[in-house]
Amino acid sequence: MILKITNISKLYSNGVQALRNVTLTIPNGMYGLLGPNGAGKSTLMRILATLQEPDTGSIYLDEIDVLNQKAAVRQTLGYLPQEFGVYPKAKAEDLLDYFAVLKGITNRAARKEVVAALLKQTNLWDKRRQQLGSFSGGMKQRFGVAVALLGNPKLMIVDEPTAGLDPAERVRFLNLLSELGENSVVILSTHIVEDVRELCTRMAIINKGQILQEAEPLKAVAGL
Ligand code: ADP
Ligand code: ADP
Repeated sequence: MILKITNISKLYSNGVQALRNVTLTIPNGMYGLLGPNGAGKSTLMRILATLQEPDTGSIYLDEIDVLNQKAAVRQTLGYLPQEFGVYPKAKAEDLLDYFAVLKGITNRAARKEVVAALLKQTNLWDKRRQQLGSFSGGMKQRFGVAVALLGNPKLMIVDEPTAGLDPAERVRFLNLLSELGENSVVILSTHIVEDVRELCTRMAIINKGQILQEAEPLKAVAGL
C-alpha cells in the first residue's frame, strides 16, 4: 500500500487557510504528522478519512481515488478521531458488535469472533460488559482502536491519540499502536515529539497548513 497526497488545500469559510498545497507520499508502516495546535493536522486527517472535502488536490491509496471513491476507501479505512465520542450507556461488547455490523460483518458467528479478538487485543476483554461511560480516558482510546481495527483496515488514521492520557495510559496505548499493521498505512497526528520518536519510521512536520519537512524522525527532531 502507498498513499499519495498531492496539492491538497483547504480554505474554511471563515478565511482560515487550514491546508496549503500539502503533498506527501506515505508508504506502509507508521507515519508521524507532527505539528502544533492549529497546524491543520485534524483537517488533513478528516479529509483522508473522507469526512471532509478539500478545495483542490488528489489523494490515491494504491489505485483507489480517495476523493472520488469514498465507499471503496471506507471499506478499508480505520479512523480514530481525537476524541472518541461514545454512547455512555452502551456496553463495550455491544457497541463494538454494532460497529462491526456497520462495517459489513453481517455473519453473527464471525462477528462474535472478531469482537472477542479485538477486545482481547486492546486489553478490554474483562471490561466487555461495562458501560463505556465508566471507562477511563485510556480505556476509551483503546476502545476506539478496537473500532478502528474492525475489518482489517489498509489505511489507519489516528488523530492526536495521546491527548488527555495520563503517562501510564499513554505508554500502554503507544504499545498497542506499535503492534499495528506492517501491511497497512498508519498515519499518526500529534503535537508530541515523543509520540513520533517512539513509534514512527517516517514523519513530516506541518505548520500553518504547510509541510515544512519530511524526514526520518530523529534527524528531523534534532533539526527543530
Ligand atoms: P466549511 O468552510 O468547510 O463549510 P465552516 O466554516 O462552515 O466550514 O464550519 C464548519 C463547522 O465548523 C461549523 O459548525 C463551524 O461552527 C465549525 N467551526 C468554525 N470555526 C471553527 C474552528 N476554528 N475550529 C473548529 N470548528 C470550527
Ligand atoms: P490541528 O489539528 O493541527 O490543531 P486543525 O485542522 O484543527 O489543526 O485546524 C487548522 C486551522 O483551521 C485552525 O486555525 C482552526 O481554527 C481552523 N479550523 C479547523 N476547523 C475549522 C472549521 N470547521 N471551520 C473553520 N476553521 C476551522
